[in-house]
Amino acid sequence: MSDAIPDHEAIVVGAGFGGMGAAIELKRQGIHDIVILEREDDLGGTWHVNHYPGLAVDIASVTYSYSFEPNPRWSRLFAPGGELKAYAQHVAGKYDLVRHMRFNVVVERAEWREDAGFWTVHTGDGSCLTTRYLLTATGFLSQPYTPDFPGIDTFAGQIIHTTSWPDGHDFAGQRVAVIGTGATAVQVIPEIAKLARHLTVFQRTPIWVVPKVDFAIPGVVQRLFASIPFTQKIARAINTSLLEMLMVFGVLHYRQARPGNQLAALLSKAHLRAQVRDRTTRKKLTPPYDFGCKRPTFSNQYFRVFNNSDVDLQTSSIVRVEPDGIVAADGTEVKIDTLVLATGFNLWDVNFPAFQITGRDGRDLGKWWRTGRFQAYEGITIPKFPNFLSLNSPYSYSGLSYFTTIEGQMRHMARLFGEMRIRGAERFEVTEQANEDFLNRVTTRLDDSVFYAGDCSRSRSYYFNQHGEATLLRPQSTLSTLREMDSFPVDDYRYA
Ligand code: NAP
Repeated sequence: MSDAIPDHEAIVVGAGFGGMGAAIELKRQGIHDIVILEREDDLGGTWHVNHYPGLAVDIASVTYSYSFEPNPRWSRLFAPGGELKAYAQHVAGKYDLVRHMRFNVVVERAEWREDAGFWTVHTGDGSCLTTRYLLTATGFLSQPYTPDFPGIDTFAGQIIHTTSWPDGHDFAGQRVAVIGTGATAVQVIPEIAKLARHLTVFQRTPIWVVPKVDFAIPGVVQRLFASIPFTQKIARAINTSLLEMLMVFGVLHYRQARPGNQLAALLSKAHLRAQVRDRTTRKKLTPPYDFGCKRPTFSNQYFRVFNNSDVDLQTSSIVRVEPDGIVAADGTEVKIDTLVLATGFNLWDVNFPAFQITGRDGRDLGKWWRTGRFQAYEGITIPKFPNFLSLNSPYSYSGLSYFTTIEGQMRHMARLFGEMRIRGAERFEVTEQANEDFLNRVTTRLDDSVFYAGDCSRSRSYYFNQHGEATLLRPQSTLSTLREMDSFPVDDYRYA
């Protein structure tokens, strides 16, 4: 071990729920010299960045929160986005995380220094920090994607990507186009339709939409949750079990449970039939791929919008953008004042990882993943990357609520750092063998999933990477994932 001392014991990149969970766990493990670097000007990750109208969780709030920090005051079953941001602030305050955070710091690259036994982290202002442990919690959906439509630079009106929403933008009297029909579009389109003079929705791939059973949580229930926390735990357990069934049977065991999946598709079709009068529009809105290939959405307002005479659904592809509108392949010219890009995120080209990370022997993580296979042991560590935890990795996403993933990873950290304490070690690195065994296991299990056993060929789902492999979800129940995070063989790591 070198005598050199790094600036910090741990650097966490990202001050969203993942980064905050990691910092809480580091503190539990006795590591208090922590710096949390965040490129935005405040904490909260996706719930700070996204504030478009209509934003709300799509996993019931009793489950979409840390199990160890329940919030009895969610106003609705599916809380609006602002409440998630407030909850993030509450957690940061209660767990004393704010003093560790540095905002407006963009991490550009990080390198492992074998001679010193620590990481050097380079930031956008040209400075660098060194750290014994590096943890990246940069999110899955954090690099906005703007398609390179010919002529988009010439557009004279305003272009709004949903991740940079100008609060208070007035759509009244405007002609608006929304490009994209993913989960974000499903939330924002009904809000724009209420205000705009005319709305054109450019849809490339339709999305499965099921009814959203949402309601205000009565004050008496909130008080019950606050005074007898066990009652909220029961509500969480029931909701989490339902989500688990959806994930395990509908997505991961599609081969065995296909009828359940088909039932969900029928429910969505019935929802569409009940809400949209015109048969041709219904046909256009019906997805040509199996339920579950793409993350399905929940809405009671989205389909109805297309009954409105001031709303057009355009399915012909976009040829070019002009100063005053969009030209589609069928020759239609749509004149608009504002262009809303609900075009989502780039996961596989620029987000895995979100910046250049170079490990031992010069291994560049992004290049290694992209030219070889996307992989990470237990979705968190990578061979040749000592003292590095990549919290948003291939095969790391477990269950439907992101908090299941976060808490599983916190358990993994507890076991790993606990073992290092026992051994008096300061360095860990997963073995090539353990990583390879995990990769083989998850890829074999995925054979039964909707991604391979179902028909996803026309889904354009971000679950698939550029090699056509579905490398995002961990193909296990959350219970078995959590068990494994608590009990993985400690010898899967080398320690020093
Ligand atoms: P997305 O699901 O990736 O959707 C992007 C949309 O843009 C798709 O409809 C896509 O069409 C379209 N698009 C992209 N490039 C295009 C092009 N060149 N021409 C035409 N259309 C193009 O992104 P998102 O809607 O932001 O949602 C991402 C994820 O965020 C969701 O799956 C969900 O997990 C999460 N989310 C959660 C919430 C919540 O919890 N409240 C809300 C919003 C989002 P194709 O499908 O044809 O590619």
